[in-house]
Amino acid sequence: MKSLHLSRQISVLRSFLLMVVLSQVAGCCLPPGLGRQKERVLMTVTAYCACRECCEWKRQCLIGPPVYATGPSRGKRKKVGITSDGTRARKGVIAADITRYPYATRMHVPGYGWGEVHDTGRLIKGDRIDVFFKSHRDAVAWGKQKLWVTVIRN
Ligand SMILES: [Zn+2]
Repeated sequence: MKSLHLSRQISVLRSFLLMVVLSQVAGCCLPPGLGRQKERVLMTVTAYCACRECCEWKRQCLIGPPVYATGPSRGKRKKVGITSDGTRARKGVIAADITRYPYATRMHVPGYGWGEVHDTGRLIKGDRIDVFFKSHRDAVAWGKQKLWVTVIRN
């Protein structure tokens, strides 16, 4: 009787150990953060700010609802400082190709830091992104860089 109890304890211990081993093995495939995918992508990173120069050049940046982009009221009701998903433009806002990197995708850009996709742009397609700076001078100083960007998908 006592040995039966002991063997049951051993089998419980064994299955527990097996689960620990399996979770360790699975740990390589499943990154921390429950199903969140982390990847590194070589991207072309440009910069912009909320000024007229950056936005006219980009044409579609920071205009709020897309209905104001064309037609007779074009340029009139432009919401300066509001991104295409309605977020207030600030440091950490990233414009990306949302068919690849949907809104709220987190990215780490070397030299810029962590940011989140909240904007789009006519020229922002594929693995090209635009990082937001408060000042035009900082945006110009950034220029155009090829960088390994860490992408966290939600
Ligand atoms: Zn600017």
